[in-house]
Formats: sequence, C-alpha cells, structure tokens
Amino acid sequence: MKILVINTGSSSIKYELFDMTDEYVMASGNVERIAEAQSFLTHQYFPEPEKVVEKKESVFFKNHEAAFECIAELLKDKKVGPIKNAADITAVGHRVVHGGERFKAPVLINESVVTAIREHIPLAPLHNPANLKGIEIAGNILPNAYQIAVFDTAFHQSMPRKAFLYALPLELYKKYKVRRYGFHGTSHAFVAEQAAQYLGKPLKELNLITIHLGNGCSMAAIQQGRCVDTSMGMTPLEGLVMGTRSGDIDPAIPLYLADYLNLSLKDIDRLLNKESGLKGLCGENDLREIIKKYESSDESAQLALEVYTYRIKKYIGAYLAVLGRCHGIVFTAGIGENSVLIREMALSGLEPLGIILDDKRNHSFVRDAREISLEESLIKVMVIPTNEELEIARATLEVVLQHQS
Ligand code: AMP
Repeated sequence: MKILVINTGSSSIKYELFDMTDEYVMASGNVERIAEAQSFLTHQYFPEPEKVVEKKESVFFKNHEAAFECIAELLKDKKVGPIKNAADITAVGHRVVHGGERFKAPVLINESVVTAIREHIPLAPLHNPANLKGIEIAGNILPNAYQIAVFDTAFHQSMPRKAFLYALPLELYKKYKVRRYGFHGTSHAFVAEQAAQYLGKPLKELNLITIHLGNGCSMAAIQQGRCVDTSMGMTPLEGLVMGTRSGDIDPAIPLYLADYLNLSLKDIDRLLNKESGLKGLCGENDLREIIKKYESSDESAQLALEVYTYRIKKYIGAYLAVLGRCHGIVFTAGIGENSVLIREMALSGLEPLGIILDDKRNHSFVRDAREISLEESLIKVMVIPTNEELEIARATLEVVLQHQS
C-alpha cells in the first residue's frame, strides 16, 4: 500500500511517499515560500536504496493548491516519479498540530473531523488553518484516497488531570479548555516504540523519559507505554529552552514587560517565541554555530549551553520522581541525536540517580538506535533517530486497515 504523508505549513508543504510493504521511502520533498515572489521546490525520487534522482526548482506557486498539483504531477512523472497514476496512492496521512481533547488517536477525516479541527484553531492559530488547507486540497486532488489526520497532541492525551491542569480558575479549563496539551507527540511515540524494540521488551512494561531536542524541544514522561506528563503546555512555548523560544518563565514577566517597558502583546509574543531561548542568550539559535563559539571560549555561548542543559536536567529529575522506576532515557531530533556535548552536560552529575554515561559510546556516530550508557547504568540512556513521517505513515496504515476490514 502506498501512503503519502503531508505536512502543510502556512507557506510550505512537506511530503513523503511510502511503500508500506517494507516502509520504503519512494519519494520525498518540500515546497517552501508558497505565495511569495519565488517559491522553492525540492523533490527527491529514490528508484532504489542509495540511489536518488533530485529535482530543484525556483518557481512561483500562487497558492497551496498550485503547489500540491505540482507535487502530484511530480510523483507520477516519467523521470522523477515513482508511481504511474494518482490512484496508486491509497491514503494520505496529514500531520495536524492540534486535536485538543477530542482526538486521542489518528482518525479517518470526515466532515465532523474537519469541523473539530476548525474549532481548535484558537489553540493553534498558525498551524491548524494550514493543516486544514492541506486536507481540503488533498481531498480534491486525490479524491479516491483515504484521508487520515494524525495529531501532534494525541499521544499526550493519556496525561492525568493532575498533570494537564494549570492552577488557574477551573472555569478557564471548563469553558475555554485552557490546559496542558503537549506537542511533538508523533516523535515521542515513535522513539518510545523504537526504545522498546531496542530493549527487547513490550512498551507496556517500560517507563521512559523521551527528550526531543530540535529547533523546538520537549520531554515526555512515559509510564507503561502511556504519556503521563510532558514539558510543552497549552502552546509549544512552555518547558525546555529552545532555539528561539524561552520555555518556562515566571508568568509575571510578560506583565512586567507590558507595565514597565510598554511592550504590546504582539511585542511580547515575538520576544518569547522568536527572540528568546538560545538566540536570546547568545545571539544564535543553530546549535552547531553555538558549539563553535563555545569551543573558542565565547562567554555567552557557554552561558546559553549551561542554561539549556540545566533545564533538561531539572526535567529529568522531575520525571524520575513522576515515574518512580525509569528504565530508559531517550535523546532524539537534530540536537539530541547529534550533540555529544549537550548529552554530556545534561546528564553530568546524575550518576547517583543511576544514570551513567559511557564517554566512548556517547562519541559514537552510528546512525541507528544505540545505547550510550555504561553496562552497569541502572537507567539505560539511548540515542534514537526520530522519524515523524514514518510514524504518521504507520498510524495512517492502521486506520486504513481498520476501515478496510
Ligand atoms: P531539528 O529541528 O530536529 O531539525 O533540529 C535542528 C537543530 O539540530 C539545530 O539547532 C541544529 O543546529 C541542530 N543540529 C543538527 N545537526 C547537528 C549536529 N551535527 N551537531 C549539533 N547540532 C546539530
């Protein structure tokens, strides 16, 4: 079965076509800067493993529909397309950012699902409208394919109320659904399952802490396979220090900024989301650049990495307390998978808690899932590459099979 995974952003579409017989990626690509003066298209076709035919173009796409039409044409193009016609695609799996409390699992999209995603726009004003656009266009261009929604928030819906409620007037939750939702759910779910496979145990028998460190960063406490807490909140701003996002701050700081610096809500929003985090502390948000500065003894880079890794360490401590017994800690995403230094700084001093890093294993650059703790470490530390697209494709397949049977 061929499944197309789509991630539609406000000015971009990312896609990956899977042959689910062996989860082979047949083609992938993205279109950026849709509706701007010049859009960029990158398309890759993999006729066989290790072989890639690439097409890169600067073109103008006036809207998402034009971009998606182009993607559909490329997928069946004689030179760069892996399929003969659009009907070869059985299902489209859509990444949808916010499913609120309604969606605890992936679903087949129908009118009521579309309405519900629309109703959740106030909780994800930048993402859900774009996701809806992708759903509408894919439905028009591939009318015979199943359309499945896979939600970033769904994995975290198993959190108990003591973890998802804020200590605000309860009315705000009851009337306006102000609560912790959590994000990066497909990534946490994927690496947790991979960790279980690596450890040779059913996920249901494992307690894990998963640490997703990319441009956005989040952690999850997973008890017997179910998420019981996560660091991102009602929005993806809460929790860890990120590339440009502050993560946790005293909630009174925005009031102070408004009162004493006369910043508007818009200014504060920009400050917290785009000008804070690593960038706010040292002027850079790309970790590779920060590490270069750190290695040349730059004071602000040193400071930024200290704050960044101290926050991770605090959350590890909190989640160890939440879980009681923890079998494994998993690092994933761009920084988690690649940065020896961040893993080392975040875990230093945790030996008395049963977390003992193996320096040699931490320096290994094997791409697959691997262990980086010493044999005698009570809690196994693993590095597991995330694959959100594959997780969406697997979830999509499961829903399609349920509907076909
Ligand atoms: P992601 O959002 O998962 O693509 O992760 C992006 C982040 O990963 C950026 O901060 C990059 O600087 C960081 N990153 C990617 N590759 C490396 C690497 N080899 N070493 C350190 N950081 C990396």
